[in-house]
Amino acid sequence: MNILVINCGSSSLKFQLIDAVSEAVLAKGLCERIGIEGSRLVYQPAGGEKEITESPMPTHKQAIQMVLDALVNEKTGVIKSLAEVGAVGHRVVHGGEKFASSAVITDDMLKAVEECNDLAPLHNPANLIGINACKELMPDTPMVGVFDTAFHQTMPSTAYLYGLPYEYYEKYKVRRYGFHGTSHSYVSKRVAELLGKPVTELKTIVCHLGNGASVCAVKNGESIDTSMGLTPLEGLVMGTRSGDIDPAILEFLAKKENLDINGLMNVLNKKSGVFGLSEGLSSDFRDLENAANEGNEAAARARAVFNYRVAKYIGAYAAAMNGVDVIVFTAGLGENDHLVREDICSYLGYLGVTLDLDANKVRGKEVELSTSDSKVKVWMVPTNEELAIARETLALVK
Ligand code: ADP
Repeated sequence: MNILVINCGSSSLKFQLIDAVSEAVLAKGLCERIGIEGSRLVYQPAGGEKEITESPMPTHKQAIQMVLDALVNEKTGVIKSLAEVGAVGHRVVHGGEKFASSAVITDDMLKAVEECNDLAPLHNPANLIGINACKELMPDTPMVGVFDTAFHQTMPSTAYLYGLPYEYYEKYKVRRYGFHGTSHSYVSKRVAELLGKPVTELKTIVCHLGNGASVCAVKNGESIDTSMGLTPLEGLVMGTRSGDIDPAILEFLAKKENLDINGLMNVLNKKSGVFGLSEGLSSDFRDLENAANEGNEAAARARAVFNYRVAKYIGAYAAAMNGVDVIVFTAGLGENDHLVREDICSYLGYLGVTLDLDANKVRGKEVELSTSDSKVKVWMVPTNEELAIARETLALVK
């Protein structure tokens, strides 16, 4: 069976067609600038050339139609007809407390997702638009929603409650939810396989370090704490997001800079993180690395603050689990930037972490980064959220 995986944002849509048996990617690509002038489809069949088609896509339905047409195209398509798509797996960002696992898409399920919209106003409505458009075009194909938050629903209340009046949790469900759950789940299971140990007997800390970044404490296969919170703004210093700050800074800056709440949220989401710390140089670590190497102090400072915050969370989660067996790096930075990994691990000697500096120079591979005598193992495991979504989808439609 082939599974179409769709990750639909407000103006973009990423897709992969995966053979559920061999787990091979048959084709992948994305639609950019949906609903905006200059929209285009980037399509790549396995082993073939990347193809770019510029064409108006006023709605998500038109974007998905273009993807489906590309998949069955006589020349560059990878299937003969849409009957060869056995199921569709959709990424859904927020499942609130309603979804502790993936769910088959039904009308009731969609209503429940819609009720989570105000917890993720930028993401969930876009995810729903994608699901509805896909349902219209493929009404008889089973579909599954896979939630970024679901893996973290095992967190105990000690980890998910904030020090706020409890009534806000009761009335509005204000609590930690956590994100990147599909990635944390996939990577924690995969590293257990690589170590040859049952995930149910491991204390794992997963560092998902991309533009958005989070750390997760996985004890015996379950998420028991994670650095993102009610929204993906909390926790680590990120590309442009601040991560943890003293909440009183909001009032202080509101007065000093004459900003309202929208202005402040814009600063915290889009102008902070390593971008803000580097005085607007870049949110991309490749740029920061180049600049730092040329002696740019702002770039070096941004990287140092980012790395320190990750190390601090690792320490916190080692405490939360009363120990740690393995620390895993994944996502854009975690998989590619050996200096980030080296700097973070330089804080972790007290835990019994010894990095193999040569092994650590590798990028984008499943590889052990610690020395053979390191008490705590360190691994790099490339994440694969699409494959994880395809597996979840297959399991539910089988
Ligand atoms: P997201 O999915 O959250 O947008 P990614 O997981 O793609 O983010 O990660 C983006 C980050 O990874 C950027 O900061 C980028 O600089 C970094 N990155 C990607 N490739 C490399 C590389 N080859 N070397 C160093 N950093 C890299």
